[in-house]
Amino acid sequence: MSRQISSLLAIAAVCVTLAPAPAFAAPKKEAVDCAQVKCLALTFDDGPGKYAGTLLDTLKKHNAKATFFLEGQYVKSRPAYVKRMAAEGHELGNHSYSHPDFTKSGPATIKSEIQKTQDEVKKAAGVVPKLLRPPYGMADMKVADIAAQFDMPMILWTAGSKDWSSKNVEAIQKQTLAVAQQNGIILMHDWVKQTVDGMPSLIKTLQNKGYHLVTVSDIIKSENLEPGDIFPVPEGWEN
Ligand SMILES: [Zn+2]
Repeated sequence: MSRQISSLLAIAAVCVTLAPAPAFAAPKKEAVDCAQVKCLALTFDDGPGKYAGTLLDTLKKHNAKATFFLEGQYVKSRPAYVKRMAAEGHELGNHSYSHPDFTKSGPATIKSEIQKTQDEVKKAAGVVPKLLRPPYGMADMKVADIAAQFDMPMILWTAGSKDWSSKNVEAIQKQTLAVAQQNGIILMHDWVKQTVDGMPSLIKTLQNKGYHLVTVSDIIKSENLEPGDIFPVPEGWEN
């Protein structure tokens, strides 16, 4: 084989290596069945917080999905993060516009808090949230009725990371690992720097324990929640 031909072949080989994978070989979005595998939903409230970009990088790197219960006022001030959340497969939920206790608010205020946030999220990311997490997790039948009018169930959490009170990387990791359970929903905050700092190693540990980090909608699929329902049902809740 002449030298010229062999170097042409070498170039051809390089071109084949560098060519993008054909479309039919592209990995499909992993469909996780939480009835079959160990699922866990990490949820981040009150954001997008100022560390959301770093958190999104970490989630992407580890192929983990999360749910963000967004505050409309921050969606308005940080729309690029919200757009990225949706584009990268995370779930967006409504956590009011300015975080009042809905049980101490009038119906007009509650409706406007929810609507304004729906509008901001739609503007930023082109999607409309389907889940409501009332501020402080505080709800009553009046709030449930309004959630139903917006066609949304109310989502609380099975356990908290206590990140907002400890603000300590090790404590947040320890607490989260202690309360993680199959189909659990963990409350966290992307405005707590230590939560975001500790996320790479926390995600690795959870994944090593067999957890699939999925969205809240993946977890509640089998619950068949109706608009206005609350999940998990808090102690003393009367329907
Ligand atoms: Zn909150």
